[in-house]
Amino acid sequence: MIKRILVTGGAGFLGSHLCERLVAEKHDVICLDNFFTSQKSNVSHLLDEPNFELLRHDVTHPIWLEVDEIYNFACPAAPGHYQFNPIKTMKTSVLGAINVLGMAKRCRAKVLQASTSEVYGDPEVHPQREDYRGSVNPIGPRACYDEGKRAAETLFMDYHRSNSVNIRIVRIFNTYGPRMHPYDGRVVSNFIRQALAGEPITIYGDGSQTRSFCYRDDLVEGIMRLMNAPNDAIQPVNIGNPHEFTIRQLAELVIEQTGSNSELVSRPLPQDDPTQRRPDITRARDLLAWEPKIELREGLEKTIDYFRSIDLSAYRPPTPNY
Ligand code: NAD
Ligand code: UDP
Repeated sequence: MIKRILVTGGAGFLGSHLCERLVAEKHDVICLDNFFTSQKSNVSHLLDEPNFELLRHDVTHPIWLEVDEIYNFACPAAPGHYQFNPIKTMKTSVLGAINVLGMAKRCRAKVLQASTSEVYGDPEVHPQREDYRGSVNPIGPRACYDEGKRAAETLFMDYHRSNSVNIRIVRIFNTYGPRMHPYDGRVVSNFIRQALAGEPITIYGDGSQTRSFCYRDDLVEGIMRLMNAPNDAIQPVNIGNPHEFTIRQLAELVIEQTGSNSELVSRPLPQDDPTQRRPDITRARDLLAWEPKIELREGLEKTIDYFRSIDLSAYRPPTPNY
């Protein structure tokens, strides 16, 4: 069945790939974005499609649309981007959630929240299962993002319990791939950009902290399955790749795969940087019959090819957005 689908943050790294998939499935897609951390070029190839529409709008302000489904992806996601204006980040998560939930309630639409592994903070439980309540510093530099996403989950559950809104919550673990912003400061984009330029690769701390990297296409497939899952799929679901690497291992892999002669240099570890992160994806396997297919080496290959193909001078760090 063809649906009218709103994707907030639809011009971003993940949102643009999701829009592409939904347009290909012939749905009527509205991509809403304020372009804070993205650029129109991510979706310009969709502009001529009759079932795609692009709206410049900020989710902190209400908007009146008629839709059947909403994917709420609008939010800066990289630490450098969300710390750029932390108050705005919190507003985007909280007011954005209230606005899409109000729309879902009015339209009887189904609404999915892009939440994050950051709700687990610097986890004491490893790997992270959905019933782990997390260890977040509420007053630290990551709190604007972590606590904003936690508050959004609370709003989603309360709109479900109080108003029967049909909700989905996905907790996304570190995801990478083509269309990552080259200057977002995230580890995969930094390392590839540095390796290709022959610049030093910046390892924060001693590089023993771990992350588990999911390729974009696997992630978007999991999210679409969650949206289309039976209506009892209300609890949060982790989506990510459970294969865990140290940051130093990632650096070595990027150097090998790019054939770079960049050296590794040490930089201070940012405050509250989680020491380990790996999803337990049992729930996604059981509920969605989903698991990732693309391992890090293959995904890096595609991402490196993408970074080789883009003109870096067309990208810039975010502009003030008050
Ligand atoms: P991204 O920065 O590329 O995409 C976010 C998009 O939201 C951008 O296009 C940005 O311009 C837009 N946006 C930001 N604030 C907005 C506002 N107030 N109004 C309208 N649009 C706004 O990042 P991404 O990696 O594609 O992340 C997408 C979503 O997934 C985010 O909600 C993020 O928190 C979540 N997520 C991503 C990851 C990951 O590893 N990529 C991990 C966990 C969660
Ligand atoms: N990191 C690093 N060098 C960089 C960028 C990031 O060593 O140039 C580290 C960072 O300290 C963290 C990990 O890589 O431990 C992942 O960082 P990222 O910002 O990609 O995501 P997050 O911390 O939100 O998982």
